[in-house]
Amino acid sequence: MSEVRKNSITGEWVIFAANRHNKPYHFKRNQQLQENNAMGCPFCPGHEQETPLAVAALPQEANWEIRVFPNKYPALDEENGACSQADDFYEALDGTGIHRVVVDTPVHGQSPEAFSDDHLKTVFSVLQQQVVQVGQQEQIAYVQAFKNNGPMAGASVYHSHWQILGTPMVPLRQRKVEEYLLAAQAAGKTCPYCQMLAHEEEAKMRLVEETAHFVSFVPYASRFAYELWVLPRRHVWTIGQLEEAELLDLARLTKTLLKKVMALRPGLNYNICLEDSPKVQQRQLFHWHMEIIPRMGSLAGFEFGSDSFINHVLPEEAAKQLRQL
Ligand SMILES: [Zn+2]
Ligand SMILES: [Zn+2]
Repeated sequence: MSEVRKNSITGEWVIFAANRHNKPYHFKRNQQLQENNAMGCPFCPGHEQETPLAVAALPQEANWEIRVFPNKYPALDEENGACSQADDFYEALDGTGIHRVVVDTPVHGQSPEAFSDDHLKTVFSVLQQQVVQVGQQEQIAYVQAFKNNGPMAGASVYHSHWQILGTPMVPLRQRKVEEYLLAAQAAGKTCPYCQMLAHEEEAKMRLVEETAHFVSFVPYASRFAYELWVLPRRHVWTIGQLEEAELLDLARLTKTLLKKVMALRPGLNYNICLEDSPKVQQRQLFHWHMEIIPRMGSLAGFEFGSDSFINHVLPEEAAKQLRQL
């Protein structure tokens, strides 16, 4: 049973997923222990019965290379997410949502930077289909596809995978962006992301890679050291709008960027977030993008207490290093 409660003062939403207590944790204190050990991995071929039934498998279930199934320990329930403590004073939502796992390779220990271009492109196509499909459900207000690579990035299973989480609420970060985009529109401005892309291309010092369809840079006010944003040149507001040529370009660029990130420090963990637009009235104001977040340090008291971040590497210096790698 899950439920979603709102902090009425800050506007932050919290998902309560009590069933995730039982989730197995596959990393030992020493990460190396698990790395070469595919024994008992529920995401390896031959262990399909240890996960819920697949909702999609490519090319097919018998010899899958990409397999999508409901999360066995979902943060949100597809049914029965009723709030346990309904209260007139506070705001809460039923914890109804969709939480899926996308295993993106049958090979235990293989990471996306080692995939072929075509395979990673197919992975992005599957993520695209899943985000669109989950977003079509009436109870879903927002869908994020994300990847936790390694225990420092929040992964509990070593085998490479992504997650798709469809939530009944628009999270606070997306709500704040919406407010800004609406104000920019009211002031007669064009898309702030399109403007930022053009500005970074001209300024050059925070640029890392440019391709036919995408521009990647270290954002001016990066929260994390070596954080990377990847923006499509075309103004699209959901991954569902990306075309074949763009998905292939995105796959190639992602591999290049992940290799650079991995070269910063061996075995570095990272998160990837696909920032889709929430299902709000003016959804088309959003500009879809991808964020890659290397996990060099951990969040600490000041970050928790203030939602402000301390970053030890200036974006211009981070971009220079990433360009040279
Ligand atoms: Zn495995
Ligand atoms: Zn734009």
